[in-house]
Amino acid sequence: MQRSKLHIYTADVFLMPHRTMRLVDAHIHLTNKEYSGYIKHVLNNLKALRIMACSMTVNLETLTRSLELFSNHMTEVIPFAGIHPEYALTDDVTNFIDILERNSESIHGIGEIGLDPTYTGHEESLFEQQKKVFLSLLQYAERTSKPISIHSRGSLDQILDILGTYNVRNVLLHWFAGSKKQLARSMDMGLFVSYGPILIYSDEKKSLLKHTAKDKFLTETDGPVRYQRCFGNLPSMSSSLLVSVVSCAANILKMSYTDTASLLEKNAEAYLGMKLC
Ligand SMILES: [Zn+2]
Repeated sequence: MQRSKLHIYTADVFLMPHRTMRLVDAHIHLTNKEYSGYIKHVLNNLKALRIMACSMTVNLETLTRSLELFSNHMTEVIPFAGIHPEYALTDDVTNFIDILERNSESIHGIGEIGLDPTYTGHEESLFEQQKKVFLSLLQYAERTSKPISIHSRGSLDQILDILGTYNVRNVLLHWFAGSKKQLARSMDMGLFVSYGPILIYSDEKKSLLKHTAKDKFLTETDGPVRYQRCFGNLPSMSSSLLVSVVSCAANILKMSYTDTASLLEKNAEAYLGMKLC
């Protein structure tokens, strides 16, 4: 594939006239080993392009890396900490929460957490174990009022039922892949949803965005996930893909790029409970 055919914009073309604006990648895994050889380059890119990245952890190992890497980069990285459903059966949640308590100041949000029966072979006892880990981290988020980033593949109805029983605010259903009915329920509950690069080539996602409350959506890359088609299967980076997603959202909503970026900045501030500067 020729590079000119890739649907990747150069972010600074869009950002040059709007230096005060900030884009937020609401969900990325900067602690993933895929980035480890060039993490300094990734951080420099974020800084140069005024992008802030909500960086998730998936287990104890990535939490340790996050605490080492990002304490001096709080202007580019918003650290989240969580045990992904994939690791819920192997990681010790009590120990994990102990570390969260000791480093609470350095961790802005809780994520990635959630439920996913794919990782438990649809076996009930294992799913209950996964649920226990999710609920423990949800309770921690409720107690500390931290924003939450949730994985809900194959479990969205259950997640919505559970969230209804917790006093949690600022919840993001990342990579939203539910039905319009589930979307309406999520909007009624005041939850945020995020869309990533698939928005560019999926009519279903475009239709979901049209039905999403304007003040409740965010954009993400879920890097280093590789996207095919126009993205050429490269490890995703906020600096190369995020502007494409924002630009696509602007087209769908029939808004200008600037107005869309400005709306997304406000939405991110509401979700994160902080002013972006
Ligand atoms: Zn993720």
